[in-house]
Amino acid sequence: LTRHVASSDFLRDSGYINGKWTAGAATGRFDVVNPATGEVLASLPDMGAAETATAIDAAYAAQPAWAALPAKDRSAVLRRWFDLMVANADALAAILTAEMGKPLAEARGEILYAAAYIEWYAEEAKRIYGETIPAGQTDKRMLVIKQPVGVVGTITPWNFPAAMITRKIAPALAVGCTVVSKPAEQTPLTAIALAALAERAGMPAGVFNLIVGVDGPAIGRELCGNAKVRKISFTGSTEVGRILMRQCSDQIKKVSLELGGNAPFIVFDDADLDAAVEGAIASKYRNAGQTCVCANRIYVQSGVYDTFARKLAAKVEQLSVGNGFKSGVAIGPLIDEQGIAKVEEHVRDAVAKGAKVVIGGNRIDGAGTFFAPTILTEVERSMTVAREETFGPVAPLFRFETVEDVIAQANDTEFGLAAYFYAGDMKKVWRVAEALEYGMVGINTGLMSSETAPFGGIKQSGLGREGSRHGADDYLEMKYLCIGNL
Ligand code: ADP
Repeated sequence: LTRHVASSDFLRDSGYINGKWTAGAATGRFDVVNPATGEVLASLPDMGAAETATAIDAAYAAQPAWAALPAKDRSAVLRRWFDLMVANADALAAILTAEMGKPLAEARGEILYAAAYIEWYAEEAKRIYGETIPAGQTDKRMLVIKQPVGVVGTITPWNFPAAMITRKIAPALAVGCTVVSKPAEQTPLTAIALAALAERAGMPAGVFNLIVGVDGPAIGRELCGNAKVRKISFTGSTEVGRILMRQCSDQIKKVSLELGGNAPFIVFDDADLDAAVEGAIASKYRNAGQTCVCANRIYVQSGVYDTFARKLAAKVEQLSVGNGFKSGVAIGPLIDEQGIAKVEEHVRDAVAKGAKVVIGGNRIDGAGTFFAPTILTEVERSMTVAREETFGPVAPLFRFETVEDVIAQANDTEFGLAAYFYAGDMKKVWRVAEALEYGMVGINTGLMSSETAPFGGIKQSGLGREGSRHGADDYLEMKYLCIGNL
């Protein structure tokens, strides 16, 4: 391990099954690489379907006792885990930056954000209320109780190596489910550190299990096909989400899916332009553009188009690109060569069809997978950037004339995760907010994610919600009790 993570007390070189650090029967190994430098950070056992099955058995055996604990006791374990994450936020952030690349300050922000879900659901654990229903007959009483669904399998991506995991397992564990978790192969070290802290917090054996490995399809098939798993919670691409939903259909297994987005970011003539520029920077360039809620299509009304482009370029010019450990760096590397190739293709396609590069537009030479923050103007709907998620630091600016026109364009996508708009007039604010076909709408803000609010998409962006009091519902079954002959 590099100097950045060598001092960490929380790294182990294996998965975690039934309270033991183990590689199972895995014989192969895989490397974890720092995308800013290309250096190998760690070598881990390549666990697969067999280890996943063992972990599922452990989670299945542990689940009844975990669910039977008073909610306050589960809550206390989660609370201790939260406290440990906060106390060790710097060390965790260093691990995250080393394997994923985002700037250290942003990584620290993610650790605290990830921990906030654990805190929130430690609190919610105590508030899983049922209900009573007035019965239609005098000799009957009717009520509803909530029970955990059982063993949950989670599969998560690399762009938020900590938060994507805690958003799922915090509510699952809080309500009495047990978990088998598979982090992305690019970022397993943060997940290992989280598991080490969970162990230290007193998580009973088998309650939280971690499988590390590169064969996502094999691990996924076991999680979806094994009848002891009652629910899959996935964050990642829409293609993989479709595969998992299909695989879960045989057993009518429950699924929560947080999939791709294609977020519109709309700036109306009456917007506060400086605020809109600031919001666009936050929404577009955070995590080097590698989030599913990043602004992907920026629509600017024609009266302010040129001014907005100029103001945005002035800010983008100041964004410093580099190794996330260097102070002042705002944009780290993209995750890998594939990420670079996609961004290059989107820019090439747009330019070939008439877009202008205002700033950036190319990969940065040298070690690591860096792409210059980019602004494209005169972007049209025939270009690939209009339809596909770019997942990189490219802001394509579309010009629009009317409210009707921009709503139609914004909704012209199979995705429906996040949308943003900047406007002044209250009538327009309500009209646009209600017309946008998205699970989340940021109004005069470029950042809206919070553990206190329901995060999730409609259309092909997914199923279910993470965070808020609603997030627990995804891990609960409702049971209706009817008591007769009273
Ligand atoms: P990304 O583009 O963010 O890598 P993916 O959807 O490919 O998105 O990956 C998200 C997660 O899904 C990762 O943990 C990856 O290993 C896993 N994964 C990829 N393919 C499959 C599959 N066929 N079945 C189950 N999991 C998969």
